[in-house]
Amino acid sequence: MNKRVYLFEEGDKSMRDLLGGKGANLAEMTNIGLPVPPGFTITTEVCTEYYENDRRLPQGLMDEVKSALSVVEKKLDKKFGDPANPLLVSVRSGAKFSMPGMMDTVLNLGLNDSIVNRLITAQDPRFVYDSYRRFIMMLSDVAYSDKFEHITKHDFEHIFADLKKELGVKEDLEVDAAGLKTLCDRFKAHVLKQTGSEFPQDPFVQLQAAIEAVFRSWNNERAIIYRRREKIPDEIGTAVTVQSMVFGNLGEDCGTGVAFTRNASTGDHHVFGEYLMNAQGEDVVAGVRTPVPIDQLATQNPDIYRQFDDICKRLEAHYKDMQDIEFTIEHNRLFILQCRSGKRTGPAAVKIAVDQVGEGLITKAEALARVDPELLNHCLLPVIAPNTKYKVLAKGLPAGPGAATGTVVFDANVAAELGKGGKNQKVILVRADTSPDDLKGMLAAQGVLTEKGGMTSHAALVARGFGIPTVAGCSEIHVDGHNRRFTVGDVTVNEGDEISLNGTLGEVILGSVPVEDAKLTGEFGTFLSWADEVRKLGIRTNADTPEDTALAIKFGAEGIGLCRTEHMFFEGSRRPVVQRMILATSDEDRQKALDELLVFQREDFKGIFEALNGLPATVRLIDPPLHEFLPNREALIEEVATLKAQGKSDPQKEAMLRTVEQMHEINPMMGLRGCRLSIVFPQIVAMQTRAILEGAAAVIKAGGKAHPEIMIPLVGHVNELKVVKAGLEKTAKAVEAEQGITIPYIFGTMIEVPRGALTADEIAAETEFFSFGTNDLTQMTYGFSRDDSDKFLKPYVEQKILPGDPFESIDQTGVGQLMEIAVEKGRRVKPNLKIGICGEHGGEPRSIGFCHKIGLNYVSCSPYRVPIARLAAAQAALGKGVSDK
Ligand code: PEP
Ligand code: MG
Repeated sequence: MNKRVYLFEEGDKSMRDLLGGKGANLAEMTNIGLPVPPGFTITTEVCTEYYENDRRLPQGLMDEVKSALSVVEKKLDKKFGDPANPLLVSVRSGAKFSMPGMMDTVLNLGLNDSIVNRLITAQDPRFVYDSYRRFIMMLSDVAYSDKFEHITKHDFEHIFADLKKELGVKEDLEVDAAGLKTLCDRFKAHVLKQTGSEFPQDPFVQLQAAIEAVFRSWNNERAIIYRRREKIPDEIGTAVTVQSMVFGNLGEDCGTGVAFTRNASTGDHHVFGEYLMNAQGEDVVAGVRTPVPIDQLATQNPDIYRQFDDICKRLEAHYKDMQDIEFTIEHNRLFILQCRSGKRTGPAAVKIAVDQVGEGLITKAEALARVDPELLNHCLLPVIAPNTKYKVLAKGLPAGPGAATGTVVFDANVAAELGKGGKNQKVILVRADTSPDDLKGMLAAQGVLTEKGGMTSHAALVARGFGIPTVAGCSEIHVDGHNRRFTVGDVTVNEGDEISLNGTLGEVILGSVPVEDAKLTGEFGTFLSWADEVRKLGIRTNADTPEDTALAIKFGAEGIGLCRTEHMFFEGSRRPVVQRMILATSDEDRQKALDELLVFQREDFKGIFEALNGLPATVRLIDPPLHEFLPNREALIEEVATLKAQGKSDPQKEAMLRTVEQMHEINPMMGLRGCRLSIVFPQIVAMQTRAILEGAAAVIKAGGKAHPEIMIPLVGHVNELKVVKAGLEKTAKAVEAEQGITIPYIFGTMIEVPRGALTADEIAAETEFFSFGTNDLTQMTYGFSRDDSDKFLKPYVEQKILPGDPFESIDQTGVGQLMEIAVEKGRRVKPNLKIGICGEHGGEPRSIGFCHKIGLNYVSCSPYRVPIARLAAAQAALGKGVSDK
């Protein structure tokens, strides 16, 4: 049998899989001699056993816990459950990857009536009852609220609120010892009424209940949402750490706080954090009281500050990374309760990595491996357009950088319903304080505003981690969630009103303000230049306009990997011309419409080639079925029928309906699209080829450079490619002759039909390049429709039938195998065949790692993912970093 319980002195920082991040780091800190209150950790393997065992702790576990506890008792000369000299403990969760605030914690465990009665004779009775009431509430909430109703934290808070009303006071601190004693009695009576049992008095019963509750909290809703978002596997489970309590709320020479060794928002090299004197840890992180900046500790208690600063330096040097540290001061003695590598914004991650290379702490390769590519998104977060004049309504803490505008909502569920992933409206979630239960709503909101809570509150931590612009601890506002409004002085903002946030400066603004893209800072450029030095993959972009192209180049794209030409047809003024082209009954009429479109498209391509300034552009010929450009069939049927019923008629509408009916397909994604469309209507792609090459010619003649790569989509059989290409070669030669120049164009194809991948050798003989269209390749390999597979894909992922959504990250075993076959067969025929990817996967770090592994030449992704792709490609080349989850 594996060892299930490790004393802190038995572990070290390498044991994160087994002891979780918290347990491993407490062990490490103990062993390097830092002041860590003694304790032990129950392994993550026990969590797995707990779930395999129908949610029961394995036999004998509590005996091992007892013997570990007896070692702690000896060290501290205290005894668990002994009224004369009681040992109290905290019971906390800790998985391999930090999930701040997502699972449960119980503090002050070990208290019971007889211990309390004895303690009040030796210690401040108010403190004793305060600890007891917190403990009754916490244990009942986490251990029993899944089985019994009305036993959550909120129910206890109501009881407390009622008592305060009776006593005629407002603040918790105004309730004296006698009041808190009454509160403890009421809490216990409530537990008895709701559960039918007394609140447990046996400390071991309490301990077992707390351990089980922490394991159960691995699967609470917010933890599951967090894991999904962060791609943390469900199987790894959490460890449970049991640690002797130290108290930050024993008087004015006590306190507790959280600090980062560098600024988690900006990356500045300066200890950054906050604390509260005479408080327990929960008060700081739960966002209920707004704490004080750590710099003030230097004046309030210079000795402790110096010690703390020294420990910060030691921990950073030891872990070679920015640390997030929890500490408690008990009667002027400093204790460290936790350290972990600190969550940070993208800009902070980049600055810290670059600075630490400069300081000689880490190498460039380590710096590159350290930053999660997805975090780079934050560096591109919008800011309020410079020179915008706006009036600040209120100021709070700059908890999450970036600017956001949206309508105010006061409820996380409403935010989830209306915001991103729901109705996709822009909403700002406004709360008095946030709890981890608000996660769903925060993720759906453009920004978050809270009245209470500090820079290290869980809300702020989560917001920074996910790049949500956030203003926290904005005490100038008063949130009245019940009436769905907040006030600042005499200004009232109601649900549905528009506000803006400047999360970088902590500003709240009435109404909307113009927001624009961030400027790319110096460190950002340096960091990505290091990525460029090591990556092997080229990085291109998917862009259809000169503006997107220019933006992507600014972000570091080395060309266009996919220009979807049909997007140019969708534009307002062109649509009627496209419709005329489709509805034409004679070749002559069709050509007329195409000639008009040619003028538009030529200008489009000219603009794109100019923006590219000689970089290559893969331009894909029209792909979607033509009826996508016509009015909706059902609406037309209804319109024509209504007119008929009214005895009227509209011949044009009727003709349109006839054409729409003719083109109607049961499954258009499998229908007349891609090269199939080009074979049935060759004039359209002939026009497009002409437009591409004439656009290129205009640029070349003006002294510029243009490298068009014309791409034929959806090829499944080599003959499709041969037919389309032969026709287009003629057009290309004609354009060259008319223009009197040679244009360095090439023809290539997309590999996005499984048969195309399997016969890639035949296809390679006819083409200059391949580009994997992994959107279609995934659809056709799985037989899942791209458009409406959500219905079952979600439950598939939830039930772990699939490890993840294959449209998000390449299914490497299935779709990936087809790609490997295509690469191998294609290069067997043409060893230097250029191969890229332009499906959405081209901007997803894990898929990029796979593309590197199978030897592609480049990946292509949307402009905003270009920096992410540069870093992911570098991490793939270094063989580390993308994600070890
Ligand atoms: C693809 O199928 O992966 C692709 C890039 O083409 P589209 O998404 O336009 O079908
Ligand atoms: Mg496709």
